[in-house]
Amino acid sequence: MKIVRYEHRGTVGYGLWREGFIHPVAGRLFDSLSETGERLPEAEVRLLSPLRPNKLIAIGLNYREHAKEQGKPLPEEPLLFLVSPTAVVGPGDAIRLPTLEHRIDHEAELAVVIGRGGKDIPREKAEEYIFGYTCANDVSNRVLQARDGQNTRAKSFDTFKPLGPAIATELDPSDLSVCCRVNGEIRQDGRTSDMIHAVPALVEFISSVFPLEPGDVILTGTPSGVGPLRPGDLVEVTVEGIGTLSNRVEAE
Ligand code: MG
Repeated sequence: MKIVRYEHRGTVGYGLWREGFIHPVAGRLFDSLSETGERLPEAEVRLLSPLRPNKLIAIGLNYREHAKEQGKPLPEEPLLFLVSPTAVVGPGDAIRLPTLEHRIDHEAELAVVIGRGGKDIPREKAEEYIFGYTCANDVSNRVLQARDGQNTRAKSFDTFKPLGPAIATELDPSDLSVCCRVNGEIRQDGRTSDMIHAVPALVEFISSVFPLEPGDVILTGTPSGVGPLRPGDLVEVTVEGIGTLSNRVEAE
């Protein structure tokens, strides 16, 4: 199923997304959701980011071709860092560039939504802790990334982490297409099968360092083809089985 968070006439809720309608649900996101029986036409709601993450965990250089284009060696262990969850916005929200002097890139990514908490989760059991998957754009200021020698500032500006449009459950993450278009032109076109460290291995690695908790989101890295965003661009991230996350770029 595909779960969305939406706003309709001032009310925010969760719903199941199917056949052009949002079917509102009651209950708690990671426990039990039941349909209320209502039905809202898709065109009448505004989709929001599917959640405001508890922790936002990201992995750098997790696709072979992207590590090559960045001129970096393949990391032997997942390259782990944290991003501020306040950077998250939803589908249709603007990505605001705080400066036009710096190169600021799109990074299309598969995002993992954790539904159950745990520490030291073996990769064979990772699936039991994953609630579903969504699309992410890991917008990155390359100048600050190089200047700082780490990622926190470069990736945590307001609006730099679009998520959505839906959380897809029952999805096998091992070989999905991950695509980015800018103004309709394909910039990134990869497959999750090219990841150096696959999703179950990431869950094992991260949870060996700190606990994963319900509502945590893992950005799993980006395929090759990253490139700069400019004011007025329409950037679309599509992950197979989830949908398309569209955002317009604006100067702040
Ligand atoms: Mg990234």
